[in-house]
Amino acid sequence: MKSGKCLCGAITFTADQVEPEIGACHCRMCQRVSGGIFITTTARGLTFAGTEHISKYRSSDWAERAFCNKCGTHLYYRILDTDEYEMCVGVFDDQSDFVLASEIFIDRKPDAYALAGDHPRLTEAETLEKYKIFGK
Ligand SMILES: [Zn+2]
Ligand SMILES: [Zn+2]
Repeated sequence: MKSGKCLCGAITFTADQVEPEIGACHCRMCQRVSGGIFITTTARGLTFAGTEHISKYRSSDWAERAFCNKCGTHLYYRILDTDEYEMCVGVFDDQSDFVLASEIFIDRKPDAYALAGDHPRLTEAETLEKYKIFGK
C-alpha cells in the first residue's frame, strides 16, 4: 500500500499494489503533457479522494491521462477499460524503493539530457513491437 497526493492536496489516493520498477517514456506526447520526462510505475487497487478535481484527457483512442484541475499535477496514464494505472512516480509520498528499470521511445529523447543506469532502452520501433496496444 502506498499513498500520494497532488501538489495542492485536493486529490489524495492510496494504491494497494505498486511496482517498484519504474519506467521513463520519451515519446512526444509524454514530453508535452509532463513538460519534461514522463516517469511512471504500474499501480493497481487505486482509491482516489477528491475525484471532482480529477480531469481526464483522452490522449488516444485507447488511453487517457489524468491531472488535477486545480493545480495541474499529472496523475496517471491509463489504458481504457483496465484497472491498471501508470502512475506518475512524483505523486507518491514515499519514493524510496523505486528503481529505474526501463526507458521507451529512447530515439525520441532530446540530446540535452540522459538518464543514468544500466537498463533496457527501447527505440520507438522496439516499443511498438513490445507493447502492441500502441497504434491500435
Ligand atoms: Zn491539485
Ligand atoms: Zn509516452
